[in-house]
Amino acid sequence: MPDVITIFDTTLRDGEQSPGCSMDTDEKMQVAQALVDLGVDVIEAGFPISSPGDFEAVQKIGRVFGSKSTICGLARCRKEDIDRAWEALQDAEKVRIHLFLATSPIHREFKLKMAEQEIIRRTVEMVKHAADLMSQRADITRPNVEFSPEDAARTELDFLCEVVEKAIAAGATTINIPDTVGYATPTHFFNVISHLKKHVPNIDQCVLSTHCHNDLGLAVANSLAGVEAGARQVECTINGLGERAGNAALEEIVMALRTRQDYYHTATNIQTTRLWHASRLVSKVTGMTVQRNKAIVGQNAFAHEAGIHQHGMLQSRSTYEIMKPEDVGYIGENLVLGKHSGRHAFRDRVEKMGYTIDDATFERVYNDCIALADKKKSIFDADIAAIIESRAHHAPETWTLQSFHVFGGTGTIPTATVELHQSNGENSEPKITRDAATGDGPVDAIFRVLDRMTELSPVLTQYVVKSVSGGKDAQGEVLVEIEHDARRYHGQGLSTDILEASARAYLQALNKAHAGRGGTPIAPERGV
Ligand SMILES: [Zn+2]
Repeated sequence: MPDVITIFDTTLRDGEQSPGCSMDTDEKMQVAQALVDLGVDVIEAGFPISSPGDFEAVQKIGRVFGSKSTICGLARCRKEDIDRAWEALQDAEKVRIHLFLATSPIHREFKLKMAEQEIIRRTVEMVKHAADLMSQRADITRPNVEFSPEDAARTELDFLCEVVEKAIAAGATTINIPDTVGYATPTHFFNVISHLKKHVPNIDQCVLSTHCHNDLGLAVANSLAGVEAGARQVECTINGLGERAGNAALEEIVMALRTRQDYYHTATNIQTTRLWHASRLVSKVTGMTVQRNKAIVGQNAFAHEAGIHQHGMLQSRSTYEIMKPEDVGYIGENLVLGKHSGRHAFRDRVEKMGYTIDDATFERVYNDCIALADKKKSIFDADIAAIIESRAHHAPETWTLQSFHVFGGTGTIPTATVELHQSNGENSEPKITRDAATGDGPVDAIFRVLDRMTELSPVLTQYVVKSVSGGKDAQGEVLVEIEHDARRYHGQGLSTDILEASARAYLQALNKAHAGRGGTPIAPERGV
């Protein structure tokens, strides 16, 4: 039997901390659902003391998903952090508290201003405190406490061994070795893990874990070197999100371990056919698009277009293909439906693509696709996926777009006229409002008139347009990010008309900002 590697996903904590990747609670719930469907063993849901939003998200994820995956909350080595994390995790069935304290000389001197022995004392005291809290709960037989010596990759090995030994003795069950600043290289990281295995006498009483950042593009390679040296948990994120250049990409780690099982002799609990789906979802809610040639989940990852490859591929797929597209749930650009496809064929297709949607959502998605078939000749898998993703979670909105008209071109003053419906609570008729504005171009004019009509004036920090499939009649997807009241909000819009998609995306972000619903602080607390 191969050893099973624990997959610890930190998309909702480390990933969410990176600039431009903030998620509100609803979005975090969608991502958590996708992580549970993937079979992730541990979900790091947030850093409860850092903000009320983080606390709420950890609590909700623990309540809803805590019987399926272990839900983890991050805390610094401070009593109030640990108490807050534990409070957020109260209702989760399977729980873990993750503590961190920096150990490298540069962090000791400049960040913590603490001597070595003080760091050890604090570690022991706080690991004990977390374990004590957990053992007070009747259903917990063994407290699940993870300790991370932050910046471990730059810590002197002797001191690292001492901290790790004491943390295990105090009750830590997982020891995570973070390369917080992305400084390690594969052989170096292999040696750090090997050294701990050899020199820490009680190392067998814990699971060793990796947490590698990608500043040198080596996060995945370093994590795999850690596994080779004996680490049995890997911390990672969907699409490699994370601070700066990001974290180790979950999909790459999992597929490397699976494809090269002959070498690593390990397995994971991940349902790899859900990888593509999870990647798309995270990309949608964070607004962080995946590059075309990204390993595993990029649009080109399975395109064998070069002539010489095609020839080889026709003879045997294994000449150039080390993984099958269906193994990762790849959604290609296959032509699937025409105007006359019935409900039955449509539902079939949706299920094959790995989506489970309720009847009401199915009706909305089906009607959207029929309407789309009037505008463009053929509907592709990617069109259906985009529609499902934009329809599946529909938050209540104060304003909805009724109609708009734009005027632009060379030698003109770009102008946008918009009609909105403004809801006044559930039982009263919506108010109809109309207004017009000019701008530098048609998109600018639309955004300006929407600002005026909603009486909000956010800063636009990101605007991306991309086509969902090939073809001149393809649907355009627009992703926007705005900052309002020191919080960030995302919006997404979908249409064959990119101006309409822009209006819808921006209005969705404005609706969120108006409701103050979720959004995340621009300057969150930092973690490992
Ligand atoms: Zn990190």
